[in-house]
Amino acid sequence: MADRPRALLLGGTSEAVALARKTAENFDVTYSLAGRTRNPSRPDNVTIRTGGFGGVAALSAWLLARNIDLVVDATHPFAEQISLNAHNSCQITGTPLLRLLRPAWQAVSGDIWYHADDIADASRKIRALGTAAFLSVGHQELRAFAGIDDIRFLIRTVDPLETVPLLKSTYITGRGPFSVDQETALLQAHEIDVLVSKNAGGNGAYAKITAARNLGLSVLMIGRPSSLPGNTVDNIDRALDWMGMHRRR
Ligand code: NAP
Repeated sequence: MADRPRALLLGGTSEAVALARKTAENFDVTYSLAGRTRNPSRPDNVTIRTGGFGGVAALSAWLLARNIDLVVDATHPFAEQISLNAHNSCQITGTPLLRLLRPAWQAVSGDIWYHADDIADASRKIRALGTAAFLSVGHQELRAFAGIDDIRFLIRTVDPLETVPLLKSTYITGRGPFSVDQETALLQAHEIDVLVSKNAGGNGAYAKITAARNLGLSVLMIGRPSSLPGNTVDNIDRALDWMGMHRRR
């Protein structure tokens, strides 16, 4: 349908896939992936593109060349650079932008949480909290823990890594979501005493937090990057409402 509004949906999260599925009928959707994982979830009935745009100027040119009517940034809460680029490109081109950002997790009764501002702060604080850590952060962030020799790390990634830049580590692969029972068994099998996690929010990665609570383990929770100004919603229904308001071309 030629008259449908054109939307760029910056993806890489389960919410982005769900939103793409719900909007494919009424919008001409381009779903964009960074290309980090080998077999990411892909929505049907949308155009899928993979790989970086090449920075703000290139993304701005991409939006203009394709007459994009609106952008929804549904990337991961910690994907800071692409969100900043989308913000700046939409300012430059005058394109409406919505950030779909799932709520952060909140500590509940029984949780033993310690806060880290960012990954570097986590690498400074971890030594005080344990000697066997489940390091549940992206592989790009492992290097921050490279010099630590008195902690045994457990690493889990979706795709195999060629090298693990840690002195003492056990490395496994696995694709979530995982159940609480699975996460409990993993933490027990590796005799983990502290979990390091980004505050991703959502259900997909939450089982390890529940497992840590049930086992009485400390969690070093890494806080989110500071938020950008602009329209932000925290669920798919509100994103659909916003997109519906921009359907007129
Ligand atoms: P990032 O640091 O914010 O982005 C680095 C660069 O990757 C961006 O400048 C952009 O390159 C490219 N990029 C990122 N997301 C893109 C997208 N959806 N479409 C096209 N290009 C994209 O991002 P990141 O933290 O590496 O995350 C990459 C992707 O993985 C995101 O889509 C995110 O939703 C997903 N993800 C991230 C995390 C996490 O913890 N960070 C966890 C789960 C999933 P150019 O400047 O060349 O355009």
